[in-house]
Amino acid sequence: MGYYLDILPLSGWIDTQGFPLVISGPCSAETEEQVLATARKLAEVSQVKIFRAGIWKPRTRPGGFEGVGEKGLVWLNNVKKETGLLTSVEVANPLHIDQALKHKVDILWIGARTVVNPFSIHELASALKGVDIPVMIKNPVNPDIDLWIGALERFNKAGISKLIAIHRGFYFFEKNPYRNAPMWEIPIELKRIFPELPVICDPSHICGRRDTLKEVAQKALDLEMNGLMLESHINPDIALTDGNQQVTPGNLKKLLSSLVIRKREGNVEFETKLEELRTEIDKLDAELLNIIARRMYVIDEIGKYKSNNNITILQLERWNKVVINRLRTGIKSGLNKKFLQQLLEVVHEESIRRQTEIFNRKNNR
Ligand code: PEP
Ligand code: MN
Repeated sequence: MGYYLDILPLSGWIDTQGFPLVISGPCSAETEEQVLATARKLAEVSQVKIFRAGIWKPRTRPGGFEGVGEKGLVWLNNVKKETGLLTSVEVANPLHIDQALKHKVDILWIGARTVVNPFSIHELASALKGVDIPVMIKNPVNPDIDLWIGALERFNKAGISKLIAIHRGFYFFEKNPYRNAPMWEIPIELKRIFPELPVICDPSHICGRRDTLKEVAQKALDLEMNGLMLESHINPDIALTDGNQQVTPGNLKKLLSSLVIRKREGNVEFETKLEELRTEIDKLDAELLNIIARRMYVIDEIGKYKSNNNITILQLERWNKVVINRLRTGIKSGLNKKFLQQLLEVVHEESIRRQTEIFNRKNNR
């Protein structure tokens, strides 16, 4: 099946004044005062064009703060009237859509937990048939690009052409510095498949904490993402949800002004196809190195474990299995067998070298 989306470019429905699109607001609407105080301050940050707030909150376990519900939509409407910001909420079922439309929310977004379920996506898309409203679709929790694409396609087929994809990172079982692993190769691939689709990054849900927001936001811009969604709360320390990752509007302003927007000469229309492809290669190489580094990190963990338990470094049986499996997978993807063998060999050599170093360090102690 080929890929096709009928997209209205971002510039066709929102004026970002040359800056990447910035969406900000609290994780959750909590009180009218909190919503309005946050919005007033955010309206002073020139890059912010859309105000976000969760009204219905998906919680892992029942009993936590589950959102204020419909009355929060009245507060959002007041935000719009008072500040002129566009408003946006997460919707997870057709009833949410009805209420959001009734209260004149400007933009809907679909959360990561909803995008994993094609039944829900089908229901939501059907509820929007014939409605002209922009929809932002977060990546599904699990790193499955087809689920993400499927959701975009379902809304597009229902007639939604103002679409934005939001990259908010993925659940990853291994220890990593982020709440949700960015796996940048996935949004890059999405942009490669749909060059006209705006893709924005949500560093807040990737990081889960404040101190890494800037590096992730900068990386997103360097990878030519079209904007950022960043959570902001008038008083993050008392936020009812996602307190650790929210920043005050003042700190958001500082963060945004510290970002470097690298000018890409004539980037909009690449002079030659060749240049476009070279940029693609640069990005893929950056991802490739990142993945190799992550692999080496895990190798080191294994090395420490083996060393602590006096297990030998080289385990031939395991390595033979790895080679057979990787050759099979690689050949299926169209890679040359000899090339794969050489690649696996250098990676293995380096892994053994690192683990030997770990063993030696322990023995010299
Ligand atoms: C949110 O934006 O507050 C949210 C719940 O995000 P996600 O669906 O990405 O987890
Ligand atoms: Mn949140």
